[in-house]
Amino acid sequence: MYEIKATQQLKNVMRDYFTGIKSPVAWCTSVGPAELLRSFGFEVYFPENHGALLGATRLASDYIPSAGKIGYSGDICSYLTSDIGGYLTKQTPLKKQYGLESVPHPDIIVYNTNQCREVQDWFSYFAKEFNVPSFGIMPPRYLTDVTQSEIDDVAAQFKALIPLCEQVSGNKFDIDRFRETLKLSKEATHLWKLVLQTARNSPAPLSFFDGTIHMGPIVVLRGTQQAKDYYRILLDELLENVKSNTGFLQKEECRIYWEGMPIWGKLRSLSDLFAKNNAAVVASTYCNSWVFDSFDEADPFASSALAYTEIFINRSEKAKTRMLKSLIEEFKIDGVIFHDAKTCFNNSNARFGMPARLKSETGVETLIVEGDLCDLRFYSEGQTHTKIEAFIEQLT
Ligand code: SF4
Repeated sequence: MYEIKATQQLKNVMRDYFTGIKSPVAWCTSVGPAELLRSFGFEVYFPENHGALLGATRLASDYIPSAGKIGYSGDICSYLTSDIGGYLTKQTPLKKQYGLESVPHPDIIVYNTNQCREVQDWFSYFAKEFNVPSFGIMPPRYLTDVTQSEIDDVAAQFKALIPLCEQVSGNKFDIDRFRETLKLSKEATHLWKLVLQTARNSPAPLSFFDGTIHMGPIVVLRGTQQAKDYYRILLDELLENVKSNTGFLQKEECRIYWEGMPIWGKLRSLSDLFAKNNAAVVASTYCNSWVFDSFDEADPFASSALAYTEIFINRSEKAKTRMLKSLIEEFKIDGVIFHDAKTCFNNSNARFGMPARLKSETGVETLIVEGDLCDLRFYSEGQTHTKIEAFIEQLT
């Protein structure tokens, strides 16, 4: 059976990260200004990563109703509702996994609405609960191209965060530390990109499902040596596998792209389903969302502003289609599966005709599956498996 040996190392890295979080702590959105925060000496904690964990452990459904009781609709982001629900019920899977009694207490809460407005509501709730300051970066949204004035606007917002960080951390802003952190982040994200690109080979040594696990450090440890070291190890192993023609499938009958959020509670069963049908899911928008090509320590504010504003989720339909087409070509994709996540329309691109347009412009088949990132009430396993098997049949 195919196994990525670096997984043991990954577990150690993630354990050390969680058990090592100590004050001062900054909560940050997954594509928020982590490098700037780290440069002040903050340990950075990511509630979305906790949301994914709640989904993967299938605890989300137990907690979502508690958030509903205080007014958070079951139709909104299930990272938000499960995370707030877990907090209200005083439960977290971090206890079983890493021995933590609760999620780390924040000293400051920072979000970037480059991904959605939901993070503003979510993070503001916690800022009030913990009685700590919060700061929001609000970039222009849904851009086709990112202009200089838009970069200047976001860079100015990054700079406006400095006095608050100085006050809360007790440390003066140090541009060299920021440059150094951004450089580490750039190197790690470059290695992560190369890791993902190993799946351009057939047989591919890394599936989308592997990617959702191995992306942990690029989300939570951006700007650290640990993330960079981990991706070096993982990349070396995957390149060895490419050399020896070792892939996660013996035989790839078709190559698939996963568009949209993972269905965290069903990664294993979906991975098994594709494998059983010799269908290789080799690329995804989700895993590529933590590739930040524009980071440049020589110009840390403008380049961070650009990198965090040009992300896929913050782009127009036109730019998204352009990006998808390029990935379809790069990874030699036969079919694209669009996950229409019921509680995250921000990261679901199936609702305004994109699958049909993409098919007519590229000739690549597309399929829409309905589900959710965490809330499995919106997912029908039988129906989805049948749809996917029929789709694979069509591709082969
Ligand atoms: S992008 Fe979607 S899943 Fe992520 S925080 Fe926003 S609403 Fe939730």
